[in-house]
Amino acid sequence: MPTQGLIRRIRSRELRAVAQTLSRVENDSGPETKRLLKRLYRHAGNAMIVGVTGSPGAGKSTLVDQLALHYRKSDKLVGIIAVDPSSPFSGGALLGDRIRMKSLATDSGVFIRSMATRGRMGGLSAAVHDAVIVLDAAGYDILLIETVGAGQDEIDIVKTAQVTVVVLVPGMGDDIQTIKAGMMEIGDVLVINKADRDSASRTQKELEALLSIGSREDGWVPPIVRTIAVKGEGIDQLAAAVDSVQEFLQSGSQASQERRLRLLRASILELLRDRMMERIDSATPEAELTAAVTALSQRRTDPYTVVENLLKSAGLEEE
Ligand code: GDP
Repeated sequence: MPTQGLIRRIRSRELRAVAQTLSRVENDSGPETKRLLKRLYRHAGNAMIVGVTGSPGAGKSTLVDQLALHYRKSDKLVGIIAVDPSSPFSGGALLGDRIRMKSLATDSGVFIRSMATRGRMGGLSAAVHDAVIVLDAAGYDILLIETVGAGQDEIDIVKTAQVTVVVLVPGMGDDIQTIKAGMMEIGDVLVINKADRDSASRTQKELEALLSIGSREDGWVPPIVRTIAVKGEGIDQLAAAVDSVQEFLQSGSQASQERRLRLLRASILELLRDRMMERIDSATPEAELTAAVTALSQRRTDPYTVVENLLKSAGLEEE
């Protein structure tokens, strides 16, 4: 059976097989791909999955590179998935790949991949979820998922991660507001990068003040780490902070168990959403959609009726 051979090649980290499978999950989530993913899933579950998010320019890629170097020192195999929801370009074309450190690009223990919105109908986060399964099954020990911004897309993406690192820079009041607006719930580790800037101490105080007023559902108090990514400073502390989250998750405490279940629940919902979107997309005839747009533009109908009718056509709502 060809799949058996492919699985063997992925598990022995044949780069071509891994890269081709990633392209496949990115562009297609049909029954064949699902079959492959189901089998790969049995070999996955060993990687530590770390999400790194923050505003553009905060230093995420620099930090991710430094973290990768850190893990390579102890011979860990590292997979990097750079996600840019705003870019239509995937594969090797993304800028993120070109600016990565040369030493990483030539290291066979590091696999770098960028992903964007092209291809799959359902959603980027479901594609990232699947890519993680592929790299995990391939035996990468640490998976670093880097994603821009703090919108819902990015939050969905980092939900795939076990440990989420939120990268902030000093002197950005807006970022503190963003944290307030929900990033604190997802940020297991808060990084103040560009700590070479004067206002780093003030930002740290503001963050500490924020953390002292709100407590998280799982009881975790996110450590704050200062880094200067361009100089590789603070990276050991960051890695130690990531480890401390991992230890908390593996502690078997009730809070950590609940969190594990929440992660699994989020991943089910993610795939469910993806499947529904696919069904809607494949079962919505373009002609019907165009006719509905025309009817709506002439106010011959309302959008609620349009949606009901489209769902009926897709067999997702009772006639
Ligand atoms: P990303 O968009 O979040 O991935 O940010 P990048 O990693 O591309 O970094 C954006 C810019 O900030 C680059 O020019 C980096 O060299 C610079 N940068 C990253 N970390 C630091 C730092 O700790 N201090 C200073 N001064 N600049 C940094």
